[in-house]
Amino acid sequence: MIPMSFINPLSDEGKQIVRKDGGDLDRIYEENNQLIASINSIKSQKISDDDYIPKNYVDLVIKRIEWYVEKKSDSKNKFKKYAFLFDSKITKFDVIAFYILCQAVGIKFGPNSRESRAIVELQGQLIENRLEELNFNRRAKREVVQQVMNELIVEDRIRWTLLADLISSKKISLQDLVLKEGNIILDREEFMEHFEEMIKNRQPEKMYNIFIGDRIKELIIIKMIMQNTENYIKNVHEMSNTVEPNPTLLKIADEISEALSKEIRHYSSGFAGGNAEASPLNAELFPPCIKLALEGIKSGGRNEVIVLFLTPFLSYARLNPSVFGSNTTLKISDVDPDLNVTKNEIIPMIYDAADRCIPPLFDDQPQEKVNINAKLGFGMHSDLSLQHEGETKWYTPMGCDKVKMNMPALCKPDEICKRLKEINPLFYYLDKMKK
Ligand code: SF4
Repeated sequence: MIPMSFINPLSDEGKQIVRKDGGDLDRIYEENNQLIASINSIKSQKISDDDYIPKNYVDLVIKRIEWYVEKKSDSKNKFKKYAFLFDSKITKFDVIAFYILCQAVGIKFGPNSRESRAIVELQGQLIENRLEELNFNRRAKREVVQQVMNELIVEDRIRWTLLADLISSKKISLQDLVLKEGNIILDREEFMEHFEEMIKNRQPEKMYNIFIGDRIKELIIIKMIMQNTENYIKNVHEMSNTVEPNPTLLKIADEISEALSKEIRHYSSGFAGGNAEASPLNAELFPPCIKLALEGIKSGGRNEVIVLFLTPFLSYARLNPSVFGSNTTLKISDVDPDLNVTKNEIIPMIYDAADRCIPPLFDDQPQEKVNINAKLGFGMHSDLSLQHEGETKWYTPMGCDKVKMNMPALCKPDEICKRLKEINPLFYYLDKMKK
C-alpha cells in the first residue's frame, strides 16, 4: 500500500509525520542512519557513488532540487542516482524534507519568488513521476489517487467552481474537464449515466477512457497539491512577518537558492554547436532581418513584426540564446529572476522599434503592449509581473522559413545566412557572437 503522504505531504497523514518526527531543526544537519539505511535498501538505487545518497534531511532537500534541475535539462532520463525519490520507503523523510523546503523558501523569499515557483513546480513533477512509476501496479496507483482525491475533495459532487483557483491560475483548463450542469464528471458510472445514450457508433467505455480515465483524476490531484503547496508557502511567509525567522531555515534557504542557480548557469550554456552565455545584446551582430525590423516598419504588418518576430528574438538572444540547444522549457524569471534585464534592456528596444514604425505602433494599437507581455510569458496583462508568469508561453524565435513566408520584405539573406542554411535568425547571432 502506497502511503498517501508520499503523494500528498500536506495530507493529514503527512502532518502527523511532521508532528511526530520532524520538530527538531537543530538536528537536521546530523547524519541520519535511518534515512541512509532506507535508501541503501532500495534495489533500484544506484549506490556506486556515496555522493548519490543523502546523509541528512538537508541533503535530501538539496537532492530533490538537483533532481528537478537535471530533469529539466533532460526530461527523458530516469536518473538512477535519484531512484530513492520514487520509492515509498523514504516517505517519512521525504515528507519532512518537503516541509523544510517550503518553510525555508516561504520565510526567506516569499510566495512570488523564483525559488517558490520552482518548489511548486518541483512538487508537481515529483508527484507526476511518482505516479508514473506506479504504472506497473495500476491497482495500487488507483487506490492512492482515489484516497488522495477523497481527502482533497470532500463534496459528493464536484462543482467546477471548486477548481476556480486552478482555472484562474491556468494550472488546469476547463477544456480538460467533462462537465454536466456545472459538475465535473469523473466516475465511470456517472459518465455512463449521463452520456451513454448520446454516444453513437463508438464504445462508451472507450470514450470514457479517452476523455476521463485515470488521467483527469491524476491531473486534478497534482494541480491541487501544487496549489496547496503554493498556499502553504504563502502562509509560512505571512507568519514569518510576526516571529523571528529561524536561522537554520534561512541558511537552508540560501543553499536552496544556490542549487537552483546552478540551473541558470547550466541553461546559460550549451547552445548546439558551441557555448552561448547570456550577455548584453550587441546589435552590430544581428542578422539583416532583425536590423530592418529595429528600424521600424513603414508599411503593413507592424504588429506581427514587433510582437511575433522581434519580441521573441530579442528576449531569447539576451536571456536564453541556447534555447535550441537544450530540450528544456524555461521561463524568463529562470534566467532573469527580478526581471531587471527584461524591463530595462529588452522592453525598451522593442518599444523603440514600435515607435519607429509609421504610424508608431502604440499610437493606434496600445493593446499591443499587452500582447508583447503575453509573448514573453506573462499573460494578457498590462504590467509585466512575476505573479502572472506562466499564464502564457514564452514564444521562441521564428525560423527563417516563416520570416520568408510571412514578412518577406525583411529577409535579405547575406553570406552568413546562406552559410548557416537560413534556419533561424538566432543562429546567425550566435554564430557571429562566437567569433
Ligand atoms: S535568412 Fe534568416 S537570418 Fe537571414 S535575413 Fe532571412 S530571416 Fe533573417
